[in-house]
Amino acid sequence: MKSIIVTGGAGFIGAHLCRRILERGDAVLCVDNFSTSSREGIDDLLQHSRFSLLEHDVCIPFEAEGDALFNLASPASPVFYQKDPVQTMKTNILGSLHVLELARQQNIPVLQASTSEVYGDPLESPQTESYWGHVNPVGLRSCYDEGKRSAECLFFDYSRQYAVPVKVVRLFNTYGPGMLPRDGRVITNFIIQALKGEDLTVYGRGTQTRSFCYVDDTVDGLLRFMDTPESCTGPINLGRAEEISMLNLALLVKEMTDSSSPIVFRDLPEDDPRQRRPDLSLAQEVLNWNPSVNLRSGLQKTINFVKNIHPR
Ligand code: NAD
Ligand code: UDP
Repeated sequence: MKSIIVTGGAGFIGAHLCRRILERGDAVLCVDNFSTSSREGIDDLLQHSRFSLLEHDVCIPFEAEGDALFNLASPASPVFYQKDPVQTMKTNILGSLHVLELARQQNIPVLQASTSEVYGDPLESPQTESYWGHVNPVGLRSCYDEGKRSAECLFFDYSRQYAVPVKVVRLFNTYGPGMLPRDGRVITNFIIQALKGEDLTVYGRGTQTRSFCYVDDTVDGLLRFMDTPESCTGPINLGRAEEISMLNLALLVKEMTDSSSPIVFRDLPEDDPRQRRPDLSLAQEVLNWNPSVNLRSGLQKTINFVKNIHPR
């Protein structure tokens, strides 16, 4: 039995990851400060005999022993990460520094959940891992984008300078059951609005695109990556190649929920990326990974989840 440390393990992706690790028979130490999650959201995990929790802010150094570490601690929704941008930056930089020190002391592999936001508002599509990105360093999204870029830099410096076995994955928009409702992300917003008969708020003209990956596929990719040889450091994109505009997403959610909600247009947030689409060649080649859940069936599971929390 292995012992796996998951920072941010109480969050949306983290909780799914912890469940999969427990299912395969390993133990989990979750390090989380519940800043964008809650104890209630991981009730099932807290009752599991192989799950333990360290309630802690990763900006402060900590002790933890394990055989591998997944670093997921960071707010991910723009609404949340812009609420306290200094804390967002600290979490990504100091948090990464602290987990890298743990990995260095114990010589264990450490995986960083980076993001497609390192590509900023991309001038290339699809985005390959060799693309350096187009990021505003001083805007409202910079605390997250530049925080994640700095974290990537730290990971590769620890790899070169101290031979720490690092793995950097760039996640594209991930969705599914377990997302915190009202976290401001587009999928939860549209589903809740559609179910409640409220206006579906499309920002800008809704022509901007995203590529949405279902959480089970994302977690599968994370686990596969951790199992690769030490020489496999990434960065590797994980996402789905299918691109959809936000207007078409609103129409799809409306149709799938049989909703009569009107679609309304609101101001486009500053620096909102116009396009997102991963090149998945590396993930296919190195991880033998391909997302298996299409948008319709993933959305159906997410709609069912939200319906249970917000019955009409
Ligand atoms: P989430 O907000 O649901 O989960 C993040 C977790 O980290 C929460 O439980 C939160 O309490 C915890 N956390 C935040 N700051 C912390 C700190 N200083 N100390 C300890 N714990 C802290 O987000 P998510 O969607 O599950 O994302 C998980 C990771 O994946 C994040 O690093 C995010 O940047 C990355 N990511 C997510 C997406 C996505 O679409 N969901 C896309 C790209 C990258
Ligand atoms: N968006 C929208 N309506 C909403 C919430 C978001 O049109 O109610 C748009 C947002 O402007 C962005 C896209 O949906 O273009 C994805 O937003 P999200 O916050 O989910 O993630 P991002 O990819 O911006 O980090």
